[in-house]
This record gives sequence, structure tokens and C-alpha cells, in this order.
Amino acid sequence: MSYDECYVKSVIRTIPDWPEPGVQFRDITPLFKDPKALRMISDAFIQRYIDSEITHIASIDARGFLISSIMAYHLNIPLVLVRKKGKLPGETIHQEYKLEYGTAAVEMQLDAVTEGDKVLVFDDLIATGGTILAACSLIKELGAEVYEAAALIDLPDLQGSSKIQDAGVPVHSLLAFE
Ligand code: AMP
Repeated sequence: MSYDECYVKSVIRTIPDWPEPGVQFRDITPLFKDPKALRMISDAFIQRYIDSEITHIASIDARGFLISSIMAYHLNIPLVLVRKKGKLPGETIHQEYKLEYGTAAVEMQLDAVTEGDKVLVFDDLIATGGTILAACSLIKELGAEVYEAAALIDLPDLQGSSKIQDAGVPVHSLLAFE
């Protein structure tokens, strides 16, 4: 089945003013009710990375988990989790980052990745880029290399993907919403 950007885009639902006024929330839950759309996006990502050097996918809490676990299965590589602070047992490191109001933090287990690993960071969407940049800094702190950051959706107006690229990490996304 070939990838049809218009079709996939039509399946993503926009909820205005959620979770707060002014935010256009891009809701990907309908994708998981549509096996054709889910297969298209999964196959597109799998094709991109099937012959790449990536050794691990670091997947971001929580919607990032949904697509990246399909990718890890087909690419036959390990999936490691980047979770919101306080969700992972055992020894962890965390990285705080700024939100519009206040801060958030993401966390990884100490043994998630190590030197020599080439890691793909995956989330459902890039807005300001803060979450992915925090994940990249954890991966580097653990001694591994960030191969690329990928997301289903980019919001280029918020300039997060440019910020990630400026930090030296290539970015790949399938769809952009203005
Ligand atoms: P950021 O750190 O600003 O790039 O935000 C990315 C994270 O916040 C992702 O995990 C998204 O799931 C979520 N997010 C931010 N903005 C939106 C939006 N407009 N629609 C859906 N999810 C969003």
C-alpha cells in the first residue's frame, strides 16, 4: 500500500482550544481506529530506517510509544522509553525543560542505551522541540549517539524542528500542520 499524505492528514483530527485556549490539538487517536492509515505511516517510517544504522528507538511518553513499538518490531531492534518523571523504576537520569508556563522533566533508565548505540528519538509531534531536545540530552549523557529525531507531525510555525536541527540532530517528519 503506497503512502498517501492527503489520506493520512485527513484522518488526524484537530481539536481547537484544547487543552487550553489557543492550542490547536492534533489528535492522532483516529489513526489507531483506521488500520489503512496506521499501516501507511508505520510502513513509511519502517522503509526510512530499514537499511539505516540505527540500533535503538528511544520513544517518548506516551503517544510516541504507539507507533515506535510497531517500528521496533519490524526493524527488530530494541525500544527504550523516555518517560515523564516518576514513571520509571530503578536507577534513572532526568532532564528538565521549559514549558510555556513552568517546567517539565523526562527520564530514562541508566541502562537504556550506552556508548556505541545509534539512537532514533521518536515522538508523535514536534511543537517547541523541548521534549525531543531533553530526550536527546539524556541519550548523550548515557554515552550514546542520537542518529535522528523523528515524529509523525511537525508544527513548523513553532520552530521546534529548526531548534533540534540547530542542536546538530537531523529531523524527519511525515506531516506538517500550519
Ligand atoms: P514540544 O516539547 O513543545 O515539542 O511538545 C511536544 C509534545 O507535546 C509531544 O509529546 C506532543 O504529544 C505534545 N503536543 C504539543 N503540542 C501539541 C499539539 N498542538 N497537538 C498535539 N500534541 C501536542
